[in-house]
Amino acid sequence: MLALGQDEIAKYPFLADAGQYLKEQGFTLEQFGTDPDLIPLIEKAYNRIYAACEGDPQSYKSDIIENQASNTASLPREVFSFLLSIVLLKLTGIPTLAKRFALNEAMRAEAFLEKDLKNISTDSNELPIKIIEDLFSIKVKKHNDFFVISVSDYIKHSIHFHEREWKLINRHVEDGFVFLTPHQTVRLVRKELGTFITSKILTGKKPSMISGFEKFVNNLISYSKKFSISIVDSGEYPPCIKHAIEILEKGENLPHSGRFMLATFLLSKGRLVQQIAPLFKNAPDYNEKTTLYQLNHLAGTSGSGTQYSCPSCEKLKTQNLCFIIPECNNIISPLQFGKKKN
Ligand code: SF4
Repeated sequence: MLALGQDEIAKYPFLADAGQYLKEQGFTLEQFGTDPDLIPLIEKAYNRIYAACEGDPQSYKSDIIENQASNTASLPREVFSFLLSIVLLKLTGIPTLAKRFALNEAMRAEAFLEKDLKNISTDSNELPIKIIEDLFSIKVKKHNDFFVISVSDYIKHSIHFHEREWKLINRHVEDGFVFLTPHQTVRLVRKELGTFITSKILTGKKPSMISGFEKFVNNLISYSKKFSISIVDSGEYPPCIKHAIEILEKGENLPHSGRFMLATFLLSKGRLVQQIAPLFKNAPDYNEKTTLYQLNHLAGTSGSGTQYSCPSCEKLKTQNLCFIIPECNNIISPLQFGKKKN
């Protein structure tokens, strides 16, 4: 377990041992549900979850300003709101909420991590470096304004990035090490950070209900219905498309290339933007406005007016999106699935 200072626990609360922290502060979970002075902290935790799930993190009033806790009293509030969020999510037991919350917390921590990386000396024992090393087993060294990691670590962690800038050939590499800016360094671990926080919520036994928490848990259960999606009948769809729909159904993160494939496939099959948009509701980073904007762009109803085509099977193979089965029968596009005759 990393040794953490006061401000650091507030910025990276997922590193704290929840039980230990509560004990040190002299509280039990039961007190939060019954003590009128502590109930506002459950409300704060509820708001933290709600803001994350809505994709509107700014609406959560954090006590951290300019990378520091705003005052001494605010530090425990910030940590409690995180720990109580975890408790509420565990009691609610809905993976979609947990994953949306975790992704948002990962992005929040990513912002702190980036600022902290910019301010460190060359000491490899400084916290941001230790976090990346201990949590994700990546050895990072500072080199002037850059951070360097081994090519093998880089490849392992950038494997799901399909944008051109992440291809090794587009990176500055020297003597087996890849040079990254602070922003790129933390971006590399966003997914793992989200997975780490999700596992904090979803692993372990679901606790028994705590008196005073019921109202918040019931509200979250009702709220989660917003994210249930009516899946389009995927019976005749090729495995790549079925797989993408399953990922979204589970509330997991479908990479940008997968979303592009799914949307362009369904648009080509004559589905309307309004019919496709709800499919993405379950994605941890869902934002209604952005989704509609992007779908309209792909459909050619906004922007240049060009309708984008579904990628070829060959392209999807290179993006790890192909889940070929014999019925694919040498087709060259998912749109041909089920049509090709022998
Ligand atoms: S071969 Fe084509 S249709 Fe079949 S799973 Fe792969 S990408 Fe999809």
